[in-house]
Amino acid sequence: MDFTISDRIQTIVEMINEFVEAELIPLEPEFLVKDFKELLPVLREKQEMVKKMELWAPNFPVECGGMGLSLLEHGLVSEALGRSPLGHYTFWCQAPDAGNVEILHEHGTKEQKQRYLNPLVRGEIRSCFAMTEVDMPGSNPVMLETTATKDGNDYVINGHKWYTTAADGADFAITMAVTNPEASTYRQASMIIVPTSTPGFNLVRNIPVMGHEGSDYFSHGEILFESCRVPQENLLGTEGQGFVMAQDRLGPGRIHHCMRWLGICQRAFDLMCKRANERVISPDGKTLGQQQTIQNWIAESAAELQAARLLTLNSAWQIDKNGAAAARDSISTIKFVVANTMNKIVDRALQVHGGLGMTDDTILAFFYRHERAARIYDGADEVHKSSLAKRILKKLRMG
Ligand SMILES: Cc1cc2nc3c(=O)[nH]c(=O)nc-3n(C[C@H](O)[C@H](O)[C@H](O)COP(=O)(O)OP(=O)(O)OC[C@H]3O[C@@H](n4cnc5c(N)ncnc54)[C@H](O)[C@@H]3O)c2cc1C
Repeated sequence: MDFTISDRIQTIVEMINEFVEAELIPLEPEFLVKDFKELLPVLREKQEMVKKMELWAPNFPVECGGMGLSLLEHGLVSEALGRSPLGHYTFWCQAPDAGNVEILHEHGTKEQKQRYLNPLVRGEIRSCFAMTEVDMPGSNPVMLETTATKDGNDYVINGHKWYTTAADGADFAITMAVTNPEASTYRQASMIIVPTSTPGFNLVRNIPVMGHEGSDYFSHGEILFESCRVPQENLLGTEGQGFVMAQDRLGPGRIHHCMRWLGICQRAFDLMCKRANERVISPDGKTLGQQQTIQNWIAESAAELQAARLLTLNSAWQIDKNGAAAARDSISTIKFVVANTMNKIVDRALQVHGGLGMTDDTILAFFYRHERAARIYDGADEVHKSSLAKRILKKLRMG
């Protein structure tokens, strides 16, 4: 393992930390009470600043206009950005666009790259990823009801999706649909680009999640595909390759989430320590930080955060060196370890803030509401633990 940080990345991380502190954290009070759409003009100004600093799209390929950072380098950048919910969006490395860029870059035709990939990397359009269905278990995504049937030169898509993150205002959806129902289980589905302006692509609603519908990028859409017709040239890769491509997308996608969560852990940890030092809880001037329970939480959080960070950087290093397939165990491990570490640290930080923690006067309640989902999306804890355990036991059986 070699996690040496180059001077260049060290400088970039410092620049990002300063930017997040000076430009993004001050916007959070507005972000917490306003509709996200209202923030778009000011966020565009911040994005122009990022472009001028030459820090735009850190993890996207250089040939598309990104910085082309390795996964390990992006891990360090992503932790710095994750300290604010506005970080990744402002620097243009946010999910689900990041994963969609990877798919388009890897599998897109020349025309698809021109029409979708290039403007996406430039930040002129946004995208979404529609796989999970209302009536089918997302934990076993081979069970899909959405179909794409050939008719003339088109596919006609019918199905009911939800949790299509950021569908509101997106230009296109990469959609998983069954194109080959007679094929073997893992060869039945394909990925198809569906412009959201296509008749039959219906955004039914932004789903209220933990009390918030959200809007634009910060939302999760329910989509009804009703005889939605797109040309067959919108197929990504080849027919029946959808699950293989989804696995390719989800591997690095999971590690991207973990890197962002580390930033959330650090922010919550810093807030917890500050409050513990400042909050006086007895007439003789004793602070919360002088209580052993709080000291335990701080010590445990510091240790758990550093362990999660090292596991994540190790995963990134493995993927950079040997590819995502070789790092499968490591990716499954960090997905549930970092999600749970984050949930624990945010919960402790909120508890230390008492009533203040429940308000939107700090960012903690936002993290508490929105990041609970980390234990569910891109594979629930139980699914990752089960597949990791199965692989461990299989290896042992095989001696
Ligand atoms: C905030 C958020 C954003 C999302 N964004 C997107 C997106 O952009 N695009 C998209 O397509 N999807 C998205 N999803 C959907 C997400 O990937 C699914 O919710 C997830 O895969 C789980 O599927 P499910 O909700 O159908 O739960 P189910 O599959 O019904 O599972 C429910 C629960 O059962 C348990 N469980 C399931 N399988 C097993 C097992 N084998 N062993 C033990 N326990 C098990 C787990 O605890 C799991 O949480 C998002 C979800 C959330 C919450």
